[in-house]
Amino acid sequence: MQGNTEKQITAQNLNIRAAKAISDTVKSTLGPAGMDKMMVDGGGGVIVTNDGATILQSLDIAHPGAKMIVEAANTQESMCYDGTTSTVVLAGQLLSNSDGLFEKGIHPNIICKGYRQASRWATDYLENLGIDSKSHLVEVAKTAITGKALEASMEHVSSLCVQAVENAEGHFDKIRVLCQPGGALDDSYCFTGVVLHKEFMLPNMSTNPNGQALLINTGLTSEKMDDNMQLQFTSAKEFHSYKQETSREVWVNKADMITTHLPEGGVVFSRETVNEVLAALLARQNISVVQRLPQSDMTALSHLLSTSVYHSPEDLPTRGDSVSAGNGDIKQETIGDMNYIVVEGDANVTTLVLRGATKQTLDETERGFEDALGVVSIAYNTGNVVAGGGSSFIAMSQHLRKRAAEIGGRQQMAIESFADALEIVPATIAENAGHDPLDTILALRNEHTLGNSNWGPNVEEGGISDMVKLGVFEPLQLIRQCVQSASEVTISILRIDDIVSKKGNDVDATQQQ
Ligand code: ADP
Ligand code: MG
Repeated sequence: MQGNTEKQITAQNLNIRAAKAISDTVKSTLGPAGMDKMMVDGGGGVIVTNDGATILQSLDIAHPGAKMIVEAANTQESMCYDGTTSTVVLAGQLLSNSDGLFEKGIHPNIICKGYRQASRWATDYLENLGIDSKSHLVEVAKTAITGKALEASMEHVSSLCVQAVENAEGHFDKIRVLCQPGGALDDSYCFTGVVLHKEFMLPNMSTNPNGQALLINTGLTSEKMDDNMQLQFTSAKEFHSYKQETSREVWVNKADMITTHLPEGGVVFSRETVNEVLAALLARQNISVVQRLPQSDMTALSHLLSTSVYHSPEDLPTRGDSVSAGNGDIKQETIGDMNYIVVEGDANVTTLVLRGATKQTLDETERGFEDALGVVSIAYNTGNVVAGGGSSFIAMSQHLRKRAAEIGGRQQMAIESFADALEIVPATIAENAGHDPLDTILALRNEHTLGNSNWGPNVEEGGISDMVKLGVFEPLQLIRQCVQSASEVTISILRIDDIVSKKGNDVDATQQQ
């Protein structure tokens, strides 16, 4: 029979080991000189990526402790679009440092308390390092894409990102990315409006409609019927009403409801598949139809055409009420060898059209673009950035060392451990670029003591430099979230003292790795 403390240490050790393994996997990708990972699935599909979140999502992870780390990375990705690798590497280091504290006999609760205090002090101090973001947006975009496939066209891509975010006034949901195989990254462009990878439903529909449009979610499709279905009616009346519902008349009615509000030459955008009879009836009235649009396209069109998305044709206002059609410039265009529907309007909806030679490079390009757009929009909306390269982590670390003595006792050791762990980010950035991490950290500590809190590792030449001069910036919010996510997940893992298999699960969780 295992003793209580022994069991606790086993659970913690197992979790720490599993979490560290994840952190070590992504560590070599951190920073501008980080390497890429090639992910291969059972079917032979290949992804080449440098993005921490993408790597973690593709890993086949069974251990519960490791899963918690992946969750933390997902939170970071969904809140800030970037900084996932830093979060995971920091969490890995925090856990590894707590191992040292266990060995000195410090109780997990004391460590958690110290870490929580340290995280609060560190993020509070971070606010002092904020720099106004307005004039640094291009640099924020550049920092986000260094080390990624997009780097090849750095100037062009970063100015596109800023142009898109400024166009959309920071509303990330008004920016869309469309990938178009062929061409080079430098041919990518920003378009004010929406480009849909769709065509009008029937060949006889006008490809140059008048610009009036209705957006309808459902009610334009026939109910799905399986083959070999049997229907049972209890009365002739029921049969008649069923027949009527499924007959052409229904579609004539629906077409009527639509044409009441949409003059000839208009367009219907539908979320669902549109019944062919209905489409043909509308085409006869010179109304074009675009079907099966994803929700995001519907929302973008609704912004752009300043009209609502109606639930169904029955939901349209009754005859005589105000006309509900949106207005814009809609046409079908052939770009390369594919058809697109291009919609222009007054509102600030922006589509970034990405060009790239192959599907695989385009996927990585798209991921990079979305992250960069997200990061720039956070910097735009929050108004604050900090110097990058992990310089803010050194600054927080030094602040914590100064304050640790305020607490005293064993908790002070946990705060000092937290301070040490923060240095892992700049140390790893330097190490991945082929420079000595220890020398870099010692030089940085020295420089920061002199009050130069923007200094970080110089990846090109080795040694250290002023990150503001090098133009390396990232949103303050991103660093704050990174420190918070990493300390939260570390605390949750440290608080676990036992791993038990749930009923019905015959795999021993402690044996999984
Ligand atoms: P993450 O997934 O955490 O965003 P990245 O691999 O994108 O990981 O690396 C981000 C780190 O690299 C950030 O700390 C950022 O400040 C730093 N960085 C980016 N460009 C430079 C640069 N030119 N010099 C030094 N550090 C840089
Ligand atoms: Mg990044």
